[in-house]
Amino acid sequence: MVEFAVELDGVSKKYGNFEAVSNIKISIRRGEFFSILGPSGSGKTTILRLIAGLIFPDSGLIKIMGQNCTFIPPYKRNIGMVFQDLALFPHLNVFENVAYGLRIRKLPEIEIKRKVCEWLEIVNLDPKIFSRRKINQLSGGQQQRVAIARALAIEPSVLLLDEPLGSLDLKLRQHMMSELKKIQRTVKTTFVYVTHDQSEALVMSDRLAVMNQGKVEQVGSPIEVYEKPQTRFVAEFIGEMNFIPAEVCEDHLLSELGKIKVSKINGAKKVVLGVRPEKIKVGNKAENVFRGKIEEVTYLGGFLKIKVNVNGVKIKCITSSNGLREEDEIEIGWNSEEAIVFEA
Ligand code: ATP
Repeated sequence: MVEFAVELDGVSKKYGNFEAVSNIKISIRRGEFFSILGPSGSGKTTILRLIAGLIFPDSGLIKIMGQNCTFIPPYKRNIGMVFQDLALFPHLNVFENVAYGLRIRKLPEIEIKRKVCEWLEIVNLDPKIFSRRKINQLSGGQQQRVAIARALAIEPSVLLLDEPLGSLDLKLRQHMMSELKKIQRTVKTTFVYVTHDQSEALVMSDRLAVMNQGKVEQVGSPIEVYEKPQTRFVAEFIGEMNFIPAEVCEDHLLSELGKIKVSKINGAKKVVLGVRPEKIKVGNKAENVFRGKIEEVTYLGGFLKIKVNVNGVKIKCITSSNGLREEDEIEIGWNSEEAIVFEA
């Protein structure tokens, strides 16, 4: 049994002189929901197109289900695809859209009927209600489901999804996120999901790769990349982070705030300390405590986001403490293991 559904080993791709992705090494496990997350232009779609075989790499190796597929054309890879524009066939009804790949594979009519109904049920569309509907008689979320059913109906070894929820409004997107995750858990197909939206990647993925300028910055579970970002880019791209410039002095740091205790130092002299706003506590019960003045209070429903000026450094802090006002002098702090030291 192969362990990895998709393996990219040292894959690079140039468009003209521009290196869109460089030396990509990613191994995606079978049955995993794997996301590729990064800002616009970081090379996410290029990776998806390389996996699909729509483009070929300049160097490196691509394996699908253990087979070297580096230069194999798309139709021989047994891969399903769902893109943002969905590319559903508008002249066909829901049933025929989902049946499309099965007809190409010349399955018997009775098999096709059984499978289409099964897939429509998996994506939560009642076949009795939706089979005969035209695509333009469906909501955005329903169209999404048809596209997913169509892609899964051919039982691909990997399903590639490129920002499929991008065109939906926030509420529907959140709903589809949990639906997609449920569908993936049911069918256990390997999903490779491209997005620039960190919440999509964090909510749905078993693991994700964070991309920046054509390179993979970190691969890990949502908790790993959030709690233990390996680079400053990852720390900044995922969630919010306070960055405090500092210098290493023996076993502690010296900063504008004053002396800071840390649990680990990485060898560099000039560093930047990262602390998540929700790790900062109001009050003096922490290893590192500083006094500052509240400059801004934003009510976020259930909790407050405050900005505290400590010796000119603005520290963002999420708290459920009530009764904090602008201009108040308060103490804030954090424990050393809750901060991360990055090289400056
Ligand atoms: P987005 O989130 O905006 O879709 P992305 O992370 O998917 O971005 P890619 O589409 O992979 O990024 O593009 C990576 C880089 O390669 C970009 O700078 C893009 O301009 C460039 N690029 C992509 N396709 C081509 C092409 N056919 N010819 C030249 N440059 C290209």
